[in-house]
Amino acid sequence: MVRLTFYGGVNEIGGNKILLEDDDRRLLLDFGFPYKRHKLFYEEYLKPRGGAGLLDPLAMGLLPPVEGIYRDDMEASDLWPRFREAPRYRKLDGVDGVLLSHAHLDHSGYISFLRDDIPVYSTGVTAFIAKAIQDSGKSDFDQQVCYFTPRERRCPAGLRQEAFVSSGAPKQRRFCIGDIDPGALGAGAVGFWERGFWDKGPQQKEPASQAVAGLDGCAFDLRCLPVDHSIPGACAWCVETGSGWVVYSGDLRLHGKRAGLTRKFMEEASGLHPRALILEGTNVRREANVSEQEVYHHGLEAIRRSDGLVIADFAARDVDRLLTFLQIARDTGRRLAILPRDAYLLRTMRLLEPETPDIAREDGLVIYQDTTASKSPSLWLRHICQDYDGKLVLARDVNAAQDEFILAFSFFDLNELPSIRPRPGSLYVYSSSEPHDEEQEIDFRRLHSWLEHFGFKSFGLPVESAGGWQVPEGEGGLHASGHACGPDLLEVAREIGPELLIPVHGEHPEYYLNSLGGGRTEVLLPIAGGTIEI
Ligand SMILES: [Zn+2]
Repeated sequence: MVRLTFYGGVNEIGGNKILLEDDDRRLLLDFGFPYKRHKLFYEEYLKPRGGAGLLDPLAMGLLPPVEGIYRDDMEASDLWPRFREAPRYRKLDGVDGVLLSHAHLDHSGYISFLRDDIPVYSTGVTAFIAKAIQDSGKSDFDQQVCYFTPRERRCPAGLRQEAFVSSGAPKQRRFCIGDIDPGALGAGAVGFWERGFWDKGPQQKEPASQAVAGLDGCAFDLRCLPVDHSIPGACAWCVETGSGWVVYSGDLRLHGKRAGLTRKFMEEASGLHPRALILEGTNVRREANVSEQEVYHHGLEAIRRSDGLVIADFAARDVDRLLTFLQIARDTGRRLAILPRDAYLLRTMRLLEPETPDIAREDGLVIYQDTTASKSPSLWLRHICQDYDGKLVLARDVNAAQDEFILAFSFFDLNELPSIRPRPGSLYVYSSSEPHDEEQEIDFRRLHSWLEHFGFKSFGLPVESAGGWQVPEGEGGLHASGHACGPDLLEVAREIGPELLIPVHGEHPEYYLNSLGGGRTEVLLPIAGGTIEI
């Protein structure tokens, strides 16, 4: 009997954590950061305490109470006795791996808490992006996906309360790559993976790195099938079980630049005649999609009319969107200025996908070096600035030639504006891949204040109206989603034709019941923390 237990991603967008059990073999399908539940309790200045180890995420219901799968360097000896009476408490003897669908944190973040002998299965690009994001960001203890700093319980000097404090060199997780032969990785790629670019200070010790492996060692027969999503490297997974093939879609779409990947996945998954398909449903209520081509046309129109500075706000990890704005920059005689962390990501991508633009040779791309207060900046940042020295632009360069740039900034980069001093009448183009939530609405208010202060016009940016925050009339067409719309998702389900369909990662799973119910596919709605036997 195969059992699927849904610890996250039920009636919510993201936070997927699904346990697949087939006798004594077990896998996790993603192990994501639960944004929605996290926001119920926490905000920027109120966070789970790293010093309390696993206690906070377990006590607040962010992590399932499953003994035997988490890092033992964060477990106090009195931790589990208090959860043994919890309704969904289980004790497992480890799991055979996590099948990671892509590098968005709502799918990957809580891998941070898993035992480090549990391998992570992913595409090569997902593994590399996970590392690049961590190298170049300030990853909290609950977002250390690719490597983590071990902890030790002791009393910090001069204090009385024991805590889990960082101790020793970072440990890298074992990643097993499903879409390429790890033996065929070039020296640059191997060097990137094994290099300690995660040093954040001179006293950091050398890390213990692990080479990437393939799928051979897995207890299950797996298929890793790339799909199109708003971050490169996304894939679906197929797992052969005693009850037949189980297919897990991850996040996908049929309207992006790489839609062919999703179509190929549908064809191959259909050929397996799966017992079950676990399918995302973020945008089931959307009737149609905006394509990347439309984003290009609308962005081009808006930017062509502008004769001052342009800021384009989009998720830079959405490399396809970055390329769309690079093309707009070329076609309007401007240069796209990206931040060093985005340059680092692009350079990382190029190690596995050589068709990614080479910053050094791409006339339309420059790197905006923002202000940092650190006396000894991180090694990755120093490398980017040294390696692309001729490509760096500073605030004064942008100030002196405002009509020559498109700055790839997000809301969180606006504090550079006092240095840049944009002239009134500059343009802010907002091009998101995802629907916004309440927290972003608070940010929208602040964003409008910034734009007003510096005399910007905006395009595509939601404004507050009686019906909530809405993109102004005539300024649509810039928001191509990473997720397929309802009719496309039904097409995915029908073409794959599973016996069972289990919706996840969406707030309206009943859509599938209403649309597919009564057909040859049975739709089963999971409940949070509940188990479906197949
Ligand atoms: Zn995603």
